[in-house]
Amino acid sequence: MGRSQLSQYAALQCSTSLNTERRVCEWPGCDSDGEYRAPRSRSELRQFRWFCLGHVRTYNQSWNFFSGLNEAQIEEIRRRDTVWDRPSWPLGAGPSVNRFEDPLGLFGTMGKARPHTPRDAALAQLGLDQFASIENIKARYKSLAKKHHPDANGGSKNAEKKFVAIQEAYNLLINDAVA
Ligand SMILES: [Zn+2]
Repeated sequence: MGRSQLSQYAALQCSTSLNTERRVCEWPGCDSDGEYRAPRSRSELRQFRWFCLGHVRTYNQSWNFFSGLNEAQIEEIRRRDTVWDRPSWPLGAGPSVNRFEDPLGLFGTMGKARPHTPRDAALAQLGLDQFASIENIKARYKSLAKKHHPDANGGSKNAEKKFVAIQEAYNLLINDAVA
């Protein structure tokens, strides 16, 4: 944990213990305790919304580019754009690609969020959001690699491709983490 994270942590602890008022989940219509925080938007990563556990999960899932897409759609996007860091990720460019739904308009322009770094794309490849810890990444990699291992899929070419993609994403994230 770096110095700035430490002091943030300390500040958080402090404000939590001073604040005796009950925090309510910000999800419209929900009055559970808002005990879990999530960044307000991609451009305001240090501003938080507070939700109950169920709603923070829903909220966080909306950050995941691939969330709500089926395997075929994901594969389609991946084939169409294998160069990860090109400036215009074709999100919404294809007719069959739906973004997550945001009927309440809760997320504003966040709905247009897209992975724009190799790290974002690698996380998306593993079905993780940007808050995934190294442990999350390792665990997800382990289960995906097992599931898509060519040996477990009768040597299927598709499984092999998927397996390689998972491998690449994992390597990138691990190298990123130790760099
Ligand atoms: Zn809630």
